Amino acid sequence: MSDGYIRLVPTDPHWQPTPGAATATTAYVTRLFSGPGDDVEQVEYEFYAHVRLIDAGENFTRVTCPRCASDIDVTWLFDLMDENGGRFDELDVTVPCCGTTVSLDALHYDWPIAFARFEVSAMNPTRAKYELDVQELAEVSAVLGHPVAQVLAHY
Ligand SMILES: [Zn+2]
Repeated sequence: MSDGYIRLVPTDPHWQPTPGAATATTAYVTRLFSGPGDDVEQVEYEFYAHVRLIDAGENFTRVTCPRCASDIDVTWLFDLMDENGGRFDELDVTVPCCGTTVSLDALHYDWPIAFARFEVSAMNPTRAKYELDVQELAEVSAVLGHPVAQVLAHY
């Protein structure tokens, strides 16, 4: 059986919260899945020393170039990740299709992914409304101290 994650990250790839804000955000997200009949296996936060790809697991299957609209083989992205040891401190890359220099977060992904140095992840959350709505994202942003985006992942 696959695991589902809701991964919440600051919209600025380099931004990191204070440890206190990280703890408060984790507690807030836990509460979102604490209603009657709701469940979540684990909510935890993680600081990364370098900018990391926050991927969507098997949800993510397609990348296209924002300049020439060509499909880019997803293995190109994973090879890039292997080459730099998973560090994405420099997001500008030369795309294989048309040789343009593009920021990795400007590529078009069929399923939202992100680049970040911090995340709060909820493992196998269950509730009637799965992902966070606009209001909840705004509240998480307020607790964290920075606007957040969510990545829905399955592994
Ligand atoms: Zn291109």
